[in-house]
Amino acid sequence: MGTLNTRCFVCKKAVTPETSTLNPVVNLPVCQVCKGTGAEQKEEKDVLDSLADGFVCGCI
Ligand SMILES: [Zn+2]
Repeated sequence: MGTLNTRCFVCKKAVTPETSTLNPVVNLPVCQVCKGTGAEQKEEKDVLDSLADGFVCGCI
């Protein structure tokens, strides 16, 4: 209660605003360990892909 349940979107570890940075691409927090890594870029793509799936309306 009152504690933000914030996790690094790459490694899924709990982070705080002090130990993480907001990734501007996916608007999710990333920890200092994952920031700037290839893993971060891969997860970025995965998140964007899953968001894109949500926007597909199926009206093909
Ligand atoms: Zn991380």
